[in-house]
Amino acid sequence: MHDYSGTQRLLGLGGLAIEAGTLAFLALRLPRRLRRALVRGRSRPILAAAAAGAAFAVLLVVVQLPVSIPAEQRARDFGLSTQDWGGWVADLGKSVAVSMVLTALGAVILMGVIRRFPRSWWALGAAAAIVLSAVFVFFSPVLIDPLFNKFERLPDGPVRSEVLKLADEAHVKVGQVYRVDASRRTTGANAYVNGIGGTKRVVIYDNLLNDFPPDQVASVVAHELGHVKHRDVPRGLLWLAIVAPAGMLVIQRLTERLAPEARLGRGAGPVVLPAAALSIALVSFLLNIPGNAVSRGVEASADSYSLHLYGHPAAFVGMQRKLAVQNVADPDPPGWLQFVFGTHPKTVDRIGYALTWAQDH
Ligand SMILES: [Zn+2]
Repeated sequence: MHDYSGTQRLLGLGGLAIEAGTLAFLALRLPRRLRRALVRGRSRPILAAAAAGAAFAVLLVVVQLPVSIPAEQRARDFGLSTQDWGGWVADLGKSVAVSMVLTALGAVILMGVIRRFPRSWWALGAAAAIVLSAVFVFFSPVLIDPLFNKFERLPDGPVRSEVLKLADEAHVKVGQVYRVDASRRTTGANAYVNGIGGTKRVVIYDNLLNDFPPDQVASVVAHELGHVKHRDVPRGLLWLAIVAPAGMLVIQRLTERLAPEARLGRGAGPVVLPAAALSIALVSFLLNIPGNAVSRGVEASADSYSLHLYGHPAAFVGMQRKLAVQNVADPDPPGWLQFVFGTHPKTVDRIGYALTWAQDH
């Protein structure tokens, strides 16, 4: 298992390095021909920004193929992936199409604010990031997720009754509870909450429902209800609202440093976009580190809520063990990796917490 997650981790870090290298290359060493094309784009800046954004989304996927293909092959070798290459390519095509639209939209908005508000575009950029993220969180469960999976209302039966009973005890309005056909892609198990307002929902992988005993499923559901109870999805947007203004200010300064043309207002064209993309990636990466620390705290408190609501620490521990095995995950990753990338507490710590809880109750 260490063999799997260790190499998979190296491939993931390799992908990140390729992405960083590509962004740095485009921002700092853009080939002359591409540069000229972007400079010419100044005459129709919005259209050119949309085209550059869409092309950029494709490029980032293409340069990562040397790591994403072996990563998929290994997932298949270890029995985690259930897809064939046809399905994998179809998924990749769909995700590229979605990201082309979103990146083009982002580039257009960025180009617009840089030209219109050369001094204060960071503030408008921050406002746009917050509003668009809220729109995305609202619509993605109903518009984007169904492109990749089939979601059906959790059928009547013991699991649904248990979910509703727990939600009732927790006094939470759970929204809808869905079962997703994750098994068409993976043998891994999971559950999550997403959406906001009218699209709020709890989603459970079919693998979890099929392979895990009912008390372990209940323990996962109680954790997800903790997220609903604590309003963690809207709180995630609040976190963004807190960090976005400072983050965008740094992005503006960095972009101006890398591409002085960004100060020219109406004179600025799409040639500033590679510098902006590098700045955004750098700042997002750095902000993700405290963001993940917050996320680990949020996850620990959902675990605590699960034990408070459902109890059954033995089921909780069994579920954590089985999840780590089934998802071929490292239960105890190196500290620096956990510090930078960990969105959840380590499996060993989650189990330790449940054992301590059991002793205290
Ligand atoms: Zn969680």
